[in-house]
Amino acid sequence: MHILKCVFDVALNMVTDLLNRPLRDLRISLTDRCNMRCRYCMPREHFDSHEFLAKGEILSYEELTTVVEALIPLGLTKVRLTGGEPLLRRDVCSFIEMLPKELDLAMTTNGILLERFAVDLAAAGLNRVTVSLDALDVETFQAMGDTNETPETVLRGIEAARMAGLSVKVNTVIRAGYNEHSVEKVAERFVGTEVVVRYIEFMDVGETNSWNNDEVITGQMMRKMLDNLQPVKPNHVGEVANRYIRGSQEIGFIESVSKPFCGDCNRARISADGSLYTCLFASKGNDLKSLLRMNATKEQIANAVRSIWSQRDDAYSQNRGKKVQEKIEMSFIGG
Ligand code: SAM
Ligand code: SF4
Ligand code: SF4
Repeated sequence: MHILKCVFDVALNMVTDLLNRPLRDLRISLTDRCNMRCRYCMPREHFDSHEFLAKGEILSYEELTTVVEALIPLGLTKVRLTGGEPLLRRDVCSFIEMLPKELDLAMTTNGILLERFAVDLAAAGLNRVTVSLDALDVETFQAMGDTNETPETVLRGIEAARMAGLSVKVNTVIRAGYNEHSVEKVAERFVGTEVVVRYIEFMDVGETNSWNNDEVITGQMMRKMLDNLQPVKPNHVGEVANRYIRGSQEIGFIESVSKPFCGDCNRARISADGSLYTCLFASKGNDLKSLLRMNATKEQIANAVRSIWSQRDDAYSQNRGKKVQEKIEMSFIGG
């Protein structure tokens, strides 16, 4: 009877939006800064002169922990640390140590600093890491990332993460005219490892990446470049990738442009300066920092988020092209 009551209480506290979608996943942008300038995300001509957030504008680890703890009773089960480049944020491992271990803790990183941090990230309680890697040849990698770094550095980071016991996925954005050849090359590189490779369609995030539909290689086009793919069921509701098995390898396709998945979207984002966004393509956020800095309790934060989430009706990808809205940059809002 007691257990039933608890289940009932928990169910009562959980929040759903106007389309009946729960809040399960929080993506935290730890910083708006990055050590790469991927042309599809932070083109140099816009971001080299960009005014990044000052230290005092960024939520502290204590403030972020308060938000995370406040959201657990609402249904939160997963936290992903992202950015910008999350490994640029000082003492990131001490933040991971502060986070409740009942949550699935993941990070998305460009991998440049991963070799240095892998052991400490795992020891701090991180479960999983997603590493972005758009090409294995130096020329394409450097063109996509507008960087002097090399894919070897990222590959060493991936190996260090695997050795440290982290579960690893690789994200590869495919953009027409740049790296179509990466579809086959990246899959081949990780055959025989436990690493899951996921290809991402070039998305129209933000306002600076000169997105144009002709540069999108759809998931369907990518699948034609890979033989022997067998579709498999999603692992859970709200999974972003369409999953396939190829031999012993798992491959996923994140097809936000050609096959939008808004119907199950359970993701909230918090920008480094403490605004809550209910969609990757939102034009404005909801200020949580002011509440936090007025010493709001966890209950008050939870109530604010409940009220925001329960009015949510975002479905940008499904309505793409029908409504024009100014979008926040992905490096700011958290990818
Ligand atoms: N800096 C980290 C990284 O690159 O992994 C984390 C932040 S980044 C914004 C998160 C993910 O968004 C990366 O996998 C990146 O490739 C992806 N991304 C950024 N801009 C994109 C775009 N225009 N289309 C598709 N994916 C994009
Ligand atoms: Fe930086 Fe990640 Fe954006 Fe590339 S995708 S510029 S690594 S934030
Ligand atoms: Fe979720 Fe917005 Fe992406 Fe749709 S467009 S899947 S609502 S983040």
